[in-house]
Amino acid sequence: MAAIFAASTRADTLLLESTPDGGRKILISGGGRCNILPVRLDESRFVTESSPHTLRKIIRSWPLAEQIAFFERELKLPLVEETESGKLFPASNRARDVRDGLLALAGRRGARFCPNAKVTGASPTPRGWKVELESGAPLEADALILATGGLSVPKTGSDGRGLQIAEHLGHTLHPTYAALTPLTAAPPPFGHLAGVSLPVTITVRDGRRTATATGGFLFTHHGYSGPAVLDVSHVAVRAGPKSPAQIRVRWTALDEGQWELALRPDGTRTALGALRSRLPERLALALLGVAGVEPARPLAQLRRLERLRLVDTLVRGALPCTGHEGYKKAEVTGGGVSLAEIDPRTMESRRHRGLFLCGEMLDAFGPIGGYNFLWAWVTGRAAGLGVARRAAG
Ligand SMILES: Cc1cc2nc3c(=O)[nH]c(=O)nc-3n(C[C@H](O)[C@H](O)[C@H](O)COP(=O)(O)OP(=O)(O)OC[C@H]3O[C@@H](n4cnc5c(N)ncnc54)[C@H](O)[C@@H]3O)c2cc1C
Repeated sequence: MAAIFAASTRADTLLLESTPDGGRKILISGGGRCNILPVRLDESRFVTESSPHTLRKIIRSWPLAEQIAFFERELKLPLVEETESGKLFPASNRARDVRDGLLALAGRRGARFCPNAKVTGASPTPRGWKVELESGAPLEADALILATGGLSVPKTGSDGRGLQIAEHLGHTLHPTYAALTPLTAAPPPFGHLAGVSLPVTITVRDGRRTATATGGFLFTHHGYSGPAVLDVSHVAVRAGPKSPAQIRVRWTALDEGQWELALRPDGTRTALGALRSRLPERLALALLGVAGVEPARPLAQLRRLERLRLVDTLVRGALPCTGHEGYKKAEVTGGGVSLAEIDPRTMESRRHRGLFLCGEMLDAFGPIGGYNFLWAWVTGRAAGLGVARRAAG
């Protein structure tokens, strides 16, 4: 996106890409369908250690409706809404169309694509920038945009080298961490439920941070995944193993009072019978086990304490968690280059003239649902235009 907008203003643009093809995260995104944008944007769902005000300013520089129009008109890629999730996908359901469409447009606008070109360093010169490559002679440029991504799923080409370059150039990095990553429990107390999924509300708390999400939850062999778990995982990841975060789950839409009603004595109805109508049976059995209630026990015979324990488990059940799947599975990297060191209108570094930064390497990420591509599109466009504006000035 940065190359498209830089080249649009006739700047001589070279797109250096370490892999043979580029855009590999687009290819694996959204299960190969690419959740390109959200249907609606809630700015408060972005996470940053930098100023939320700066973040909002950046996001508002390219309104969602204009981004949708860009993909539909410029890339000729009609988008369709997945109503249940509020996500936008290309109508073709092919992530490849997004990646190929962006590369083709960059080419049409005049950018030259250089695959297998790994950047190993960058330094300012009296006239602009010297860019070092793993192989071949260094390049000279008037301006440099770093769009090298974060640390997640390094096999896609984003291995953190760009973050090192930014740090080497004097930028402050907020500590990086894996975000939107599955959580683990060793030993996994619910390993036998692997494959069971359901909508829940999950809350993760440590001493300083809280995150809550409502959405899909999936038991895995090693722990927990699904959009709701990924969305809150950053709090558990940052809490670390020494003082682990507390995770609580409301397993159904019912609150305490509603469960009290649902567990009222009702003929010969059993505890399992009451839970089974609202939860997958295997999970219902596991939760009864956690609460210490015999599944076959008639509701009429439940003791007060048993009832209280059961309601508590159903409404704010503790979920043991000892770790996470890390960058190997993380959809995004938390932390990164401080937004305070970037001009939010142009994405130009406040440390170096002619250096621009964008995308996942910056200190911001959003929830599942197209928010992270939105961040990449908005900041990439702003950086491309920023370079052009600078050249014109
Ligand atoms: C499995 C998975 C699924 C996802 N699904 C979605 C989704 O559906 N919707 C959504 O909004 N977000 C999704 N994301 C997140 C999204 O992919 C990222 O937020 C986004 O790709 C970040 O864009 P970026 O351009 O900043 O970095 P990247 O996409 O990581 O691109 C960086 C590029 O720079 C190249 N590069 C890195 N270092 C160098 C170097 N030194 N020299 C030359 N080139 C270099 C890399 O090879 C890469 O091509 C997903 C992520 C993953 C891992």
